[in-house]
Amino acid sequence: MALKIVRIHNELLGTYGDRGNADVLAYRAGLAGISATVIDISYRDALPSDADIYLMGGAEDAAQVLSCNALSSGSLHGAVEKGAVLLAICAGFQILGKSFYANGEEIRGLGLLNIRTEPGSQRYVGDIKVHSELLGVDLTGFENHGGKTILESGTTPFGTVVVGDGNGAAEIDGAITGNIFGTYLHGPILARNPEFADLLLSRALGAPVSVVDPLANEYAQLRRKVVK
Ligand code: GLN
Repeated sequence: MALKIVRIHNELLGTYGDRGNADVLAYRAGLAGISATVIDISYRDALPSDADIYLMGGAEDAAQVLSCNALSSGSLHGAVEKGAVLLAICAGFQILGKSFYANGEEIRGLGLLNIRTEPGSQRYVGDIKVHSELLGVDLTGFENHGGKTILESGTTPFGTVVVGDGNGAAEIDGAITGNIFGTYLHGPILARNPEFADLLLSRALGAPVSVVDPLANEYAQLRRKVVK
């Protein structure tokens, strides 16, 4: 089987280096003997609905609104309904919710996650560590956002905050619903936390994926020791 990975609007959602998540997934799929293609979709292009994994990154407010508008046609909704995996970081995560704020104005989101984002009491910047129940490990990254995210019914937190702020409310980070994962962790998160990359690959393939990459493990452990 070949995996199709779509990196959504990197020209808008690429400010924080989250584009690396697609590269990590393709690299680790290759190590597991699975071929993977990364396709960049610009906000001027139609979004294909037949990919296995969709990725969104962080952005500044104006770019975030452009990306949200381009996605409001509903093609991402169709892909997710078919069971595709979706990982959205920071601005991407906020876009998936019911509403978020950009430059002081409330913007309607895609409503794929039952969350809403409000202006926070500060800007949340720095190293972050969260404990993931799903993976049974601490994940590390860095965060840089002004929004505070509130989870509503049917949404599970992505993790419990150990260091940093995460959603800026309830000492949790991110949200999960089905195969949709949202989090505030830049890093890129999948370069910092290989276990999570393999979980996404497994979800996309519908079977466990076994990847041997000692250097990635060593790096993840080092970051987990340093972020405290
Ligand atoms: N513009 C959003 C905020 O400040 C998201 C920032 C980001 O993606 N890092 O909350």
